[in-house]
Amino acid sequence: MTAIRDRLLAGLVQMYSIMRCPADSCLAGLPFPQPKHSEKFKNFRYNMILHIDMDAFYAAVELRDDPGLTGKPVVVGGSLSGRGVVSAASYEARKYGIHSAMPAAQAVRLCPDAVFIKPRMQHYAAISKQIREIFFRFTSLVEPLSLDEAFLDVTGCEKLFGDGPSIGKKIKRVIADELGLVASVGVAPNKYLAKVASDLEKPDGFVIVDADQVESFLKPLSISRVWGVGPETAKKFNSFGVQTIGQLRQLPRDTLERAFGLNSEHFWRLARGLDTRSVVPDRMAKTVSHETTFSTDIDNDDALMAWLLELTDQVGRRLRRHGILGKTVQIKVRFSGFDTIVRSRTQAAPSHTTQVLWETAQDLLASVRRTDRRSVRLLGMGVSNLTSNEKKQQGLFDRDDQAKANRMDVAADRIRDRFGGAAVKRGSSLAHEIKYQGDPRVIE
Ligand SMILES: [Mg+2]
Repeated sequence: MTAIRDRLLAGLVQMYSIMRCPADSCLAGLPFPQPKHSEKFKNFRYNMILHIDMDAFYAAVELRDDPGLTGKPVVVGGSLSGRGVVSAASYEARKYGIHSAMPAAQAVRLCPDAVFIKPRMQHYAAISKQIREIFFRFTSLVEPLSLDEAFLDVTGCEKLFGDGPSIGKKIKRVIADELGLVASVGVAPNKYLAKVASDLEKPDGFVIVDADQVESFLKPLSISRVWGVGPETAKKFNSFGVQTIGQLRQLPRDTLERAFGLNSEHFWRLARGLDTRSVVPDRMAKTVSHETTFSTDIDNDDALMAWLLELTDQVGRRLRRHGILGKTVQIKVRFSGFDTIVRSRTQAAPSHTTQVLWETAQDLLASVRRTDRRSVRLLGMGVSNLTSNEKKQQGLFDRDDQAKANRMDVAADRIRDRFGGAAVKRGSSLAHEIKYQGDPRVIE
């Protein structure tokens, strides 16, 4: 017990000495990657974003499920008697001017032959889930915007699946082959451009925005393509003689500032195709996670690993308390510039053992740190793909070390339940991780 306590103390002392290490001394002499590529390569290297948007989703599902509807103007939502509102209109119905959010009475006037179908939201949600599963085959960085559209960050997936356009094409084809539905895809260096791109050639669109063609891509587009520009703002722009994004770029910055105040910066950046927001997967309800924001940004690997272990332990404890196991481990890293990345890995078997989860989590963080050495503002750890304890197969504890790790967890949980969370910390595991030990100022 004394030995464990000593190791625990050593771990904590190390952790706090790292925390107190001034940022400058931690950084001194480190081989930080220097920018040595052109902007284009940089964009290509760091950002490959897809925006995938299903075409007339609800209506397309109804058309797929009932071949008798083929060629007919299909309206989902509302009724022929004129009650309710249109949720979705097939492209056939759109030819008559029918669109979503239109009162059904107006839709009936525009096209008395339209077939009105009651929305089957649960059905659409189930198909949306199938679509998302397809996305997850290519990347875990999926940010759904609604049932039928999502951003995907496929940066760094080249080796496995090819570049952004190849992945976009593959996903489009898989959705068509497996689900019989059509998606429009935009491929671009950031979210804003990807979303504009996916909408340009609907239906069945596929538009690529090269990092070095952003200006020529945006220039001819209407300013209504700029996020946040509604009919009123568009009118205001028109009064300055601005109809296109190209013309918006010509507008002097101070004019823009005087006219649009706080929004001017936003418009100025989007007109240049600048958008640094990351694709952040939605915090699924089916995730158990903990995260912490540091009072001072951390750039030291040891300190980050120590925090990650602490978070993993908290997550493991929560899983055990609720009798659930998780198969997918994810970490979230927010850098000082507010860029956020999420990395995840699905394990062979579900677990709630801190040691098992920790092995995956530290691997994920180590691989992030190998390529990105920016200081970290927030660190998070989570487990998803959850199953209840009862479903767990006996075989999982066959390995002696896992059984031991599990017993340690149970013992630690018991002590903490009695004496509070701080009573037992995993100092020993910290000391065990030789890779991350040593002089806090030396980072491999
Ligand atoms: Mg859509």
